[in-house]
Amino acid sequence: MVDLKGQYQKIKPQIDEAIRVVMESTAFINGPAVKRFQKHLEDYLQVKHVITCGNGTDALQLALMALDLQPGDEVITTSFTFVATAEVIALLKLTPVLVDVLPDTYNIDPRAVKEAITPRTKAIIPVHLFGQAADMQQIMEIAREHNLFVVEDTAQALGADFTNLKNGKIQKAGTIGTIGCTSFFPSKNLGAFGDGGAVFTNDDALAEKLRMLANHGMKIRYHHDYVGVNSRLDTLQAAILDVKLAHLDEYAAARQKAASFYNEAFAGCKEINIPVTARFTSHVFHQYTVVLQDVDRKALMGYLAEHDIASAVYYPVPLHLQKAYRDKRYGEGDFPVTEALSRSVMSLPIHTELTPEIQEVIAGAVLEFMHKNR
Ligand SMILES: *Cc1c(COP(=O)(O)O)cnc(C)c1O
Repeated sequence: MVDLKGQYQKIKPQIDEAIRVVMESTAFINGPAVKRFQKHLEDYLQVKHVITCGNGTDALQLALMALDLQPGDEVITTSFTFVATAEVIALLKLTPVLVDVLPDTYNIDPRAVKEAITPRTKAIIPVHLFGQAADMQQIMEIAREHNLFVVEDTAQALGADFTNLKNGKIQKAGTIGTIGCTSFFPSKNLGAFGDGGAVFTNDDALAEKLRMLANHGMKIRYHHDYVGVNSRLDTLQAAILDVKLAHLDEYAAARQKAASFYNEAFAGCKEINIPVTARFTSHVFHQYTVVLQDVDRKALMGYLAEHDIASAVYYPVPLHLQKAYRDKRYGEGDFPVTEALSRSVMSLPIHTELTPEIQEVIAGAVLEFMHKNR
């Protein structure tokens, strides 16, 4: 699905040099590269504070910890996402309230969010799924009206631009709500050589608290004001990410080009719904995900595998049907859009090293399968 080796080869001298400098310094924790990378990411995102941490799941957990939520408080999020989004809500003894997604963008449905609000609701976690922003204008309006926090899960959409269509203001996904969270998992848009994550905020007090929470709840060493965690981005990862950050937009452009190629190839194929980008956002295509119409997905993926072509399903089981998240409030049929997507989505390889020749082979195999099975 990705070609991390090819991507590394293109910037190997800079990466290797960055790693060498850290090795020589032996400042493996909180070395100068960490601050430097945070500053560069703040500049890129146009956000006041970036606080790096151990991974994207920790970023979400830290965000919720910083908001002083109490056990039983309700947090609304989407039923169609990676488990981490709901996991941290449950871990903190908060109550995840799931809502359905929109059939065209697969992102959280603002109307469903509105309907799910109760007096116990404290926060909304929109997920900018597959690389495009959720409808932040509507979500922020709902949040303001009901005095709710908004934690953006932008693990898949780092670099995407959200446009407020009312005033034309453009902001990076993840910098619009109370706190934004991202992941530097190797296959993400900005991938480390291991785990990594970050939270962003424009709120000075929240930033200070987030920084403390990620470091055992302390500001002054051995003086602990909060029950915190130990979650850090190590210096080696920061040094690597700092090199790769300079290429983030170029990587997004490469994936956008690859997405256009697929879109054109599949345009006339009635069994394939190509991805739809909402008017208010750019799409950085963390994933290229299509919806299959009356296609035996398992057979198609098997056919592709036989031709050495990768494909994947994100996500085959909606959150409310996962064993760990079964809850008497929810059952099969409650989130029809999510459930239909789980049965019919398929993602194809999309990364910075794709060439038209490779894509020709991939798209050709997909279309061949359709023709054979009509
Ligand atoms: C990857 C991902 C996460 C978690 O990030 P990790 O760094 O793997 O912990 C959270 N939410 C979404 C939507 C993701 O895709």
